[in-house]
Amino acid sequence: MGGERGTQPKGASAAVATSNYPAQATGPVGKRISKIYKERITQFYSTGQWEKQNLLAMMYEGKASGDPHVRLWTWKAPGLTRPTFKEAMQGEYEPTHVGAPFGPSWTTHWFRIKITVPKDLLDKEHLEFQWDANNEGMVWTEDGKPLQGLTGGGERTEWILPKAFRDGKEHTFYIEMACNGMFGNANGDSIQPPDPNKQFVLTKAEICAVNMDARQLWIDTWIIGDAAREFPEDSWEQHKALNVATKIIDNYRLGDKESIKECRKIAEEYIGANVNSAKVYDSDTVPQVFGIGHCHIDTCWLWPWAETKRKVARSWSNQCDLMERYPELNFACSQAQQYKWLKKYYPYVFDRVKTKVKEGKFHPIGGSWVEHDTNMPSGESLVRQFLYGQRFFQSHFGERCRTFWLPDTFGYSSQLPQLCRLAGMDRFLTQKLSWNNINNFPHTTFNWVSLDGSQVICHMPPSETYTAEAHFGDVNRSISQHKSMDQDHTSLLVFGKGDGGGGPTWQHIEKLRRCRGISDEVGRLPRVHMGSTVDKFFDKLQEKGTSLVTWYGELYFELHRGTYTTQANNKLNNRKMEIFMRDLELLATIASIEHKDYKYPKAEFDEIWEGILLCQFHDCLPGSSIEMCYDDSDELYADIAAIGQRILKDIYKRYGISEVQPSSVTDAAAVNTMPWHRKEVVDISDTQSGVACGSGNLLSVKPFKTGEKKAVTVKEVGKGVFVMENDQLTVKVQAGCVTSLIDRKSGREVISKGGKANQFVLFDDKPLYWQAWDVEVYHLDTRKELPSGETKIYEDKEHRVSVVTETKISEESSLKSILTLHAAFDGQQSYVECTTTVDWHETMKFLKVEFPVDVINNEASYETQYGIVKRPTHYNTTWDMAKFEVCCHKFADLSEHGFGVSILNDSKYGFATCGSLMRLSLLRAPKAPDAHADMGTHKIRWAILPHEGALGATTVRTAYNFNNPMKIATAGADVRAALASQPVKLSGDSSLILDCVKRGEDDEDVSQDDNIPKRKGKNVILRIYDSLGGHSRGTVSTIWDVKKVHKTNVLEDDLEEVEVAKDGSFQIKLRPFEVATYRLEL
Ligand SMILES: [Zn+2]
Repeated sequence: MGGERGTQPKGASAAVATSNYPAQATGPVGKRISKIYKERITQFYSTGQWEKQNLLAMMYEGKASGDPHVRLWTWKAPGLTRPTFKEAMQGEYEPTHVGAPFGPSWTTHWFRIKITVPKDLLDKEHLEFQWDANNEGMVWTEDGKPLQGLTGGGERTEWILPKAFRDGKEHTFYIEMACNGMFGNANGDSIQPPDPNKQFVLTKAEICAVNMDARQLWIDTWIIGDAAREFPEDSWEQHKALNVATKIIDNYRLGDKESIKECRKIAEEYIGANVNSAKVYDSDTVPQVFGIGHCHIDTCWLWPWAETKRKVARSWSNQCDLMERYPELNFACSQAQQYKWLKKYYPYVFDRVKTKVKEGKFHPIGGSWVEHDTNMPSGESLVRQFLYGQRFFQSHFGERCRTFWLPDTFGYSSQLPQLCRLAGMDRFLTQKLSWNNINNFPHTTFNWVSLDGSQVICHMPPSETYTAEAHFGDVNRSISQHKSMDQDHTSLLVFGKGDGGGGPTWQHIEKLRRCRGISDEVGRLPRVHMGSTVDKFFDKLQEKGTSLVTWYGELYFELHRGTYTTQANNKLNNRKMEIFMRDLELLATIASIEHKDYKYPKAEFDEIWEGILLCQFHDCLPGSSIEMCYDDSDELYADIAAIGQRILKDIYKRYGISEVQPSSVTDAAAVNTMPWHRKEVVDISDTQSGVACGSGNLLSVKPFKTGEKKAVTVKEVGKGVFVMENDQLTVKVQAGCVTSLIDRKSGREVISKGGKANQFVLFDDKPLYWQAWDVEVYHLDTRKELPSGETKIYEDKEHRVSVVTETKISEESSLKSILTLHAAFDGQQSYVECTTTVDWHETMKFLKVEFPVDVINNEASYETQYGIVKRPTHYNTTWDMAKFEVCCHKFADLSEHGFGVSILNDSKYGFATCGSLMRLSLLRAPKAPDAHADMGTHKIRWAILPHEGALGATTVRTAYNFNNPMKIATAGADVRAALASQPVKLSGDSSLILDCVKRGEDDEDVSQDDNIPKRKGKNVILRIYDSLGGHSRGTVSTIWDVKKVHKTNVLEDDLEEVEVAKDGSFQIKLRPFEVATYRLEL
């Protein structure tokens, strides 16, 4: 055909003669002023002065409210109770109406609603019941099925009426109203303490017939408008979006339904023709952004646990409902605890969820009990988060999780990759580091590496949110903010309203369909995909796995550093319960093997552990919840401690140990659970003391030997200057401060020249916004030394001396600190102990205690779970300086070659080392979201432990001992002899710690779960770790008849069989900071 052109006549005159192009301009055509046309788009669908003329005016084909179509009755639940449906049906209902107020805050109101769809609406395409009281609600059927949640305040206000309601007859259903919003009950600023007297007005209760074309056109125009507003001006895609949007608006004719259809046709020029269904995702173009529905429900925060139970039911019902209408929706949801609540309180919803899990739409994720804090829980707690979480998912859904999911937790400790791998998870998702307020974390997708070298693939969604609104901008940012595109350019978009918002809305899903349409039709927008899962996303990443960049060590969060300190009592309870459980499991394990009739109290242990784990939720343990939540956690801790005490009593009884205070040293026994030799002074009564010594579970107590020379002395050597001295240390105290601490053996002074250790200091503590969460770097500029009163001798006993000092903090607050020195024992490092009682009534102040030491190192060490993390003591770079307040567990240490100082504590987690100044954080006084956080009395213990050589086993073990005071009891000589040694012993490198002894989860006499196969016989589980970071070897021996030993993961799945010697002992060999679990088959 091409040849024809060549045969045409040539020459200019022929061309002019055939041109159809108008020779004359028809009139002036102006260039569009882009800014003005862009603004006009919003006017097309916004409320306000144009709403009766724009698209909103055609959104409904009819509405009906009030008698006889919508009739309302209500019943107020008594007090702050949250009755069940059954209880609510017993209530006496009274007529009510739109416009009526309901309250106050936290109360529950039930509504009986009778509706009759008017005749003229019966045949309409889509009927909804719309309800808004600016608070959360749940729709129930007449026979008690919870159907879906309502959010209020214009969000998720609709419930689609069932077909059966279109018969012209009256139908009844119920709405349960909770008098709280999505974010609790604060006025204005949501993190302020809740207002107990809020009222909520019912503003809407009506039947609506929706014009679905108009609703769809609204979303079309919204998204095309976003493209016009957000694509760059120098792109043709932006101009085309503006042209299409303009054309839509120009073609809209008020009152003409056909014009809406025409407008939708015009929209196809930009979003394609397939956006009305999930078909839009069927194109074979390659996607980059994977949308996954999610609903981040804080297990407690600005509301108590009791409300969370309802939030879960409301939110997850919504998702099950949406999945019916949107087949592409995949919803990932974490926290076994929330599933467990759902199962107990909402079996109907739980079954619905189960069905959706089976269909592969609803994805349990995370593998942990709750989305917990990772800074403060002990290693064993982290293990139990996974053990309890994974077992729940395995038991109820037949599968464990592969992805650890913590989008919102405040920093991630360095051993998590190892523990994840040991809990069957090789992927990790978070995004909280995008909140860093100093440095920008450099990666989106990377391999995160533990202290022991274990790795997981980590992805941080570049949209930098876990509650995305699925906006055009969220999709765009999924690539524009992607930091690892040199290696992989895919990303996850985690969308859906969190907390009370109920997860993804239909608007979110509709918007994403259009985003995909744009990518395929026009391009430029990253191509979003729906219908895939988090696991499939990571499967793809895993193919590139080993080439991804690496990040070694903790993911330190450069914000929320105050959470290591806020809500001190809760943190103390956490530490105490973790330690108590270690004791109980060890003793109960021994009892269950040695006493045939003793039943290992697994159900009770589960209850205690689930309590501990729940309180480690990322707004509970960190201290960022409202006061109500801490009333709840105080109660829960008290309950589980009481269960523990009953178990301990029972074990004592089996062994003939009595809790009665011994009448003399000869009757006394000290219960010890530490796996090494101990020798300590113990108080038998107020007047008597002795020395407990040995390495068994029950140590005999001997009278304290008094020699010619007193073993420890205290003297006032000058006015107000005291010297305490034992064989190892000379401690000089003046005005409550240690002005000199001499290691007598080496003659070395521990305190820096002119320094005052144990000096209390007070800081102004007004962060930029998040009071309970944050302490900002500038608080350091406001340091004020607290002057102390006169120091006095408090105790001067044979085995122990102490001095006491009172310190005024302010007109309202004061503290009393007692510095104690015990008699020293050969071969055991002595330390100075401090017990402080603080009466604390401050506002936005931070109390710390300082230890200036004569040690130089650019790095300090801090105990973390199963190991030690090193952090800078200088402010060289912004990354170093950002760590001006860090987390530690039982100790922090500053050592140089040959010598060092450790600061031990019994309940604290905040610390800082700046140069040679060590500083333990004690108490904060934020006023939001709990107006009374930490007000009252606190008793805190710490110790200054100087040591020869670098940080070593002395510190690790002394810190354990310091947190595990021996329990004094009464026991006869025969009982003491029987328990004088430990049935399981670990010998070898002193860095090895036997941290947990428990029974096998699946042992037939122990297991509480019938859905997980049981194991015959009795198994003892040992958890051993290398605490100091070196290859280490040891031998485990036991008095029991061991048949086989397996090394297992933390879920107690066998990994490899370990050779057992004839005497039942076996050898172990660990990597630096390795956590190893062994199953001993008896
Ligand atoms: Zn959260």
